Amino acid sequence: MKILVINTGSSSIKYQLFDMDRDSAMVIGLVEKIGEKNSILTHKTIDQNGDGKEKVETSHIADHTKGLARIVELLTDPEYGVIRDKSEITAVGHRVVHGGEQFKSSTVINEKVLKTVKDNIPLAPLHNPPNLTGIEVAKTIFPGAPQVAVFDTAFHQSIPQKAYLYALPYDLYLKNRVRRYGFHGTSHAYVTVEAAKFMGISRDKFNLITIHLGNGASMTAVKNGRSFDTSMGLTPLEGLVMGTRSGDVDPALPFFLARNLDMDLKDIDQLLNKESGIKGFCGINDMREVEDRARAGDERAKTALDVYAYRIKKYIGAYYAALGRLDAIVFTAGIGENSPLIRSMCCKDLQELGIKIDEDKNRERRKDERDISATDSRIRILVIPTNEEKRIARETKRVIEHIN
Ligand code: ADP
Repeated sequence: MKILVINTGSSSIKYQLFDMDRDSAMVIGLVEKIGEKNSILTHKTIDQNGDGKEKVETSHIADHTKGLARIVELLTDPEYGVIRDKSEITAVGHRVVHGGEQFKSSTVINEKVLKTVKDNIPLAPLHNPPNLTGIEVAKTIFPGAPQVAVFDTAFHQSIPQKAYLYALPYDLYLKNRVRRYGFHGTSHAYVTVEAAKFMGISRDKFNLITIHLGNGASMTAVKNGRSFDTSMGLTPLEGLVMGTRSGDVDPALPFFLARNLDMDLKDIDQLLNKESGIKGFCGINDMREVEDRARAGDERAKTALDVYAYRIKKYIGAYYAALGRLDAIVFTAGIGENSPLIRSMCCKDLQELGIKIDEDKNRERRKDERDISATDSRIRILVIPTNEEKRIARETKRVIEHIN
């Protein structure tokens, strides 16, 4: 079975074609700068040994329909293709950012689902509209294949009310749906499944804290295999310090900025989402560079790392208390998978809580799933590479097998 996974942004389409018999990607690609004069398409094939061919082309791709049509041409290309005809694609899985309270799991897309995703646009004004475009375009290009929506928010729909409600007038929740939704659900769910397999624990008895540290960053307390609390909220701004987002701040900060710095809503939005976080301290948000600067003695970079790691540590404590019993802590995504320094700082001096890293294992440069905890650490500390596209492909397969 072949499943095409699509993640559509306002001017981009990320895609992967999965061979579900092998549970792995055959092609990984990206179309960028759609609508611009020089759109860029990068298309890579991956064979069973992990080798493959890459094609990069620059041309004008006017819209998402043209972009997906070109992707299909390449997928069936005699040199760069991996299938003979698009009819070999059984189903298309779409990343959809916001499923609101309506979607607790992935679903086959029909008119009712499309309407609900549209109804959720106020909750994700930047993401749901391009996700909808991707679905419409894929429907025209693959009219016979089921389309499946996999939501970033769905994994977190198991969060109990005490954790998802803000202490605001209750009508704001009832009438305007103001609550914690959480994001990165596909990643937190994927590493939960993989970590359970890695440890040989039944997922429904598995308590863990998943720490996703990419450009965006979030943590989830997972109880009995289900999301119990998560650090992102109504929007992805809440919680951890991120590349350019502040994470938690005093909610009264916008009043201060408006009164004293004469900033309007747009300025404050820009400040908190694009100019803060790691970038706010050092002007850059690439963690590798920040670590290099800190090692070279740059005080701002050191401060950025301190604040970044301290916030994570604080959430580890909070989520440990929320869960009561903890089996594992899982680091994932670009920084979580690749930065021994950040992992070490987050877990420093937590041995009283049963959390102790083995620094030799932590420093090993590896790409696979691994345990970096000391032998006397009561709680396992794992590094599990995330793969959101694989989760979307697996979910798509599960959903279409359920309807057939
Ligand atoms: P996105 O959220 O865009 O998918 P990624 O999960 O790819 O992001 O993570 C990007 C982040 O990972 C960047 O800040 C990058 O600097 C960081 N990163 C990648 N490799 C390393 C490394 N070896 N050491 C520290 N940080 C790294």
